[in-house]
Amino acid sequence: MSGEKLDRDVAKEQIDRLRQEIRHHDWCYYVANEPEISDQEYDRLMEQLLALEERFPELITADSPTRRVAGEPLSGFPVVEHKVSMLSLANTYSWQELLEFDRRVQRGLNTSAQIEYAVELKVDGVAVSLRYEQGRLVQGSTRGDGLYGDDITANLKTIKSIPLTIFSSQIPLSMHSLEVRGEVFMTRENFARVNQARERAGEPLFANPRNATAGSLKLLDPRLVAKRPLDIFLYACLAEQDLPETQSEAMDLLERMGFKVTPHRRVCLGIQAVIDCCQEWEDRREALPFEIDGLVIKVNSFVQQRQLGETAKNPRWAISYKFPGRQATTRLLDIQLQVGRTGTITPVAILEPVALSGSVISRATLHNADEINRKDIRIGDRVIIEKGGEVIPKVVKVVTSVRTGQERQFQMPSLCPACGGAVIREEEEAAYRCQNLDCSAQIERIIQHFASRNAMDIEELGPALIRQLVAGGRVKNPADLYDLRLEELKALERMAEKSAQNLLSALEKSKRRPLSALIFALGIRHVGVVAAENLARYFRSLDALGAASREELEKVSGVGPVMAESIEKFFRAERNRQVLNRLRQAGLVWTEEADTAERRKEDGGLAGQRFIFTGTLRSFTRAQAEEMVKSLGGIIGSAVGKSIDFVVVGEQPGSKFQKACDLGLKILKEDEFRLMIERLQGNI
Ligand SMILES: [Zn+2]
Repeated sequence: MSGEKLDRDVAKEQIDRLRQEIRHHDWCYYVANEPEISDQEYDRLMEQLLALEERFPELITADSPTRRVAGEPLSGFPVVEHKVSMLSLANTYSWQELLEFDRRVQRGLNTSAQIEYAVELKVDGVAVSLRYEQGRLVQGSTRGDGLYGDDITANLKTIKSIPLTIFSSQIPLSMHSLEVRGEVFMTRENFARVNQARERAGEPLFANPRNATAGSLKLLDPRLVAKRPLDIFLYACLAEQDLPETQSEAMDLLERMGFKVTPHRRVCLGIQAVIDCCQEWEDRREALPFEIDGLVIKVNSFVQQRQLGETAKNPRWAISYKFPGRQATTRLLDIQLQVGRTGTITPVAILEPVALSGSVISRATLHNADEINRKDIRIGDRVIIEKGGEVIPKVVKVVTSVRTGQERQFQMPSLCPACGGAVIREEEEAAYRCQNLDCSAQIERIIQHFASRNAMDIEELGPALIRQLVAGGRVKNPADLYDLRLEELKALERMAEKSAQNLLSALEKSKRRPLSALIFALGIRHVGVVAAENLARYFRSLDALGAASREELEKVSGVGPVMAESIEKFFRAERNRQVLNRLRQAGLVWTEEADTAERRKEDGGLAGQRFIFTGTLRSFTRAQAEEMVKSLGGIIGSAVGKSIDFVVVGEQPGSKFQKACDLGLKILKEDEFRLMIERLQGNI
């Protein structure tokens, strides 16, 4: 007993020491930007702490560095009331307004002396409040409407520059309970990285860093927030006692307490010094690694701040100076089209080059044809462009008053600018799309998909080889693959005779892939593996599928109007028909084999019947069972729902079983399932 206690005491000491060390290194890395140890050494400290906490879970505390990402996704954020309301600042856009602000302050303080102002960068992010009690972070919230905000404590804890514990011992104890306020933001570099990842994943892009920050803080799963590279700058400190006398000293104090405070702070005597400072930053802002949209000017003395007080909406002792909008006017010379990797066609404005916030702009995005129509943008127009945090500037509006009548209206072409093939516009979709199997802008992706596992399954055809074949002009559409000869493959870089032969035999083998695989391989928009299987089963030949009307397509289970439209348009495209003809000549499986179809007809089979499995089966593996169902024409469902015909239940079934019962689906025990299969296979 006492040995255990000793153990625990030693562990507690070690845990405390490790936490202190990790906090120190977090501060060095995330706040001071001067790491003292390598990432590996840091990871080792973290591992030691985790191991100890695992052995002594009773020693885990909420402010342990291991608890930054903890907790389950929330269903919503609780509301918190701000003890001191989070007022927003009044905005000014001109020197004139700044001079007026200064006069109001002097009047309010009944003085003609020059006022001391604290000037801080206005970081373009999301305002938050952090509450510490006895040195520990207990609550973090959004500004909300100023009086009530959302409790986003779990999300804010994932930001490594926010200390979970205030670690300075030189700070008066009363200060260990305080509220600090600041701006959560994302650097330009991290913003670009987040958007790149989203583009790769086919997710919508964030418009600017502030947008990305706000979107991240709204996520209900802290584990997802932890993956977003967020940071914070603090700019306000609210404590009941022992606060220094000025804003600038309070910020210095926060810094000593381990907080990351807005950098480049300055104290200016008199409003002229403030104006000079604003002017300086207007030029320097682009050099900062994060976005600012202006400066914040605060009366430095807290006594004077209290004297001035506040209106219902804004404090009287502070104001924000916003930089003039980053807009410029120029001439729209032309509208060009870009074809993305997935066939989306985007119009791009070609501009007379114009300088805008530090760079020369010659292109701007126009998003889509609807946008061009809505803003009535014509070629030759004088347009106003704007650069926010966006990657590419955008056309805000047209200066219609200077139109000469020579401007030309733009028409979205009916042909793809990359391949010259017909372009498709789906009903209720803003985007135009090229779906041609031989589109030069998309060919790499088309071939990659064609060769993928659930499609033609040509493993030997890797991305590097595809790039080589496409770049050399040898492969312009999937049918070209089947014309490849040994000699020309051997001549390729890094291609040995053996691998060339392997590729040819893999291509040969792919010709025997079933009809459903071929349908999937064509990459028809909205047609996934399951839909391809259903279509193959229903139509039994590619010709029948290609000739089907929308009405007939919609009769197939799982095919809705959107997919039907997409299929019909795909097969109607002349260029796709040409490629398909060549694929047929190459000898690919074009119809479902007669004997399979015949056998299904005879025994009634499982054609079109949907199965789902849960729990462990005794007589065969899950994969074997699924294969049996498929060989009899059945379909393996992906989730329990009304469309499922049979739920096969093994030992220790999961939540699917309960859901199936709730829905009143047909349940088969393993024995019943085996009997059914054996009967259909003709074994009984
Ligand atoms: Zn095209």
